[in-house]
Amino acid sequence: MKIFVPKESKAGERRVALVPDVISKLTRAGFSVAIESGAGIHSSASDGDFEKAGATIAKAAAINEADVVLSVQPLTPPQFQQLKSGAITISFLSPVSAVESIEAAVKAKTTSFSLELVPRISRAQSMDALTSQALCAGYRAVLVAAEISPRFFPLLMTAAGTVTPANVLVLGAGVAGLQAIATVRRLGAVVSAYDVRPSSADEVKSMGASFIDLQLEALEGAGGYAREMSEERAAKQRELLTPYISKSHVLITTAAVPGKTAPRLVTKEMYQTMSPGSVIVDLAAESGGNVEGSIAGETIEVANGIKLWGGKDVPSQLPFHASSLYSRNVVNLLLLMVKDGAINIDFADEIINAAALTHDGQKRG
Ligand code: NAD
Repeated sequence: MKIFVPKESKAGERRVALVPDVISKLTRAGFSVAIESGAGIHSSASDGDFEKAGATIAKAAAINEADVVLSVQPLTPPQFQQLKSGAITISFLSPVSAVESIEAAVKAKTTSFSLELVPRISRAQSMDALTSQALCAGYRAVLVAAEISPRFFPLLMTAAGTVTPANVLVLGAGVAGLQAIATVRRLGAVVSAYDVRPSSADEVKSMGASFIDLQLEALEGAGGYAREMSEERAAKQRELLTPYISKSHVLITTAAVPGKTAPRLVTKEMYQTMSPGSVIVDLAAESGGNVEGSIAGETIEVANGIKLWGGKDVPSQLPFHASSLYSRNVVNLLLLMVKDGAINIDFADEIINAAALTHDGQKRG
């Protein structure tokens, strides 16, 4: 059973699907592992590190011999065309945005797993790459905000006087938002948060933040995710959030609704009420933006000395640990399919059934 890991080719992608630490788990299970030369360069894993861990280094063309291809980004259509019929691929493969890759997977008759479709049940937690990567993004958002902010985050008592702590507001308290809250707390700022799911209130409070209750209709949908807002509710939410935004020095937004463009939570009128030197970090900038005017990959001055950072490839900005966590997710999913030294794709398994997006020339679902 041959595994191949290509070098990621999308601009801005700095992760790798396997790190040297996990290779022995795969070789013990009966796989041979080939890594494209240079694939780990950005995540501090050299070709020599992979070889020491038991992998071989290969050229891109070795993809055509693989039984399993592990990547972060979806394989490109030309990569799918080179695969053996019946090969397995595991990667992010969004049913909404990776349309061309999915068509190519169907034509190539591969069994292609989408990490976006791994169900959020407790047995699948170790395979949940959305969670591991959102965790990296939430942590990174706070470091960026602290770096851009002209203020200290913690309370400081110094001989020259007392420094008051920064007020940080986090909108969206899912995986990324909760990790942002935890990181803000470690830096000592005062943090509050809002989410449309009332069930997030206890999680927010347990991390030492205060939860903002706007007394609006809850938007809890299937699978623990949020539902989309009506325009009327969105307008009300914006009105009620404005006073909280005005008194924040740092605003971090992480709100998302699966398969939809990001909800617009903050308008120009709202952030113009913040004091000069305030910082806004929009983690949803790539999927439409929670904040009016945010541009993915850019920091812009929007008003009054207020800086707006639009996140782009955020987990890739922490490539060592993002790759390390991601590779454990893909290895755990792959090993779920190994029985007695052979690959056995069992669609009776809830996780396999949900995550396998293409099989035998068909799109499933
Ligand atoms: P996500 O990335 O889809 O969304 C991020 C957050 O934005 C969510 O908390 C969502 O409620 C919030 N949001 C959406 N619209 C909003 C709006 N208009 N205003 C404010 N906030 C808004 O979600 P996620 O972080 O991937 O996780 C969502 C849920 O899944 C959480 O309940 C989390 O606990 C749960 N989860 C479960 C498991 C598991 O059981 N294995 C694993 C991970 C996450």
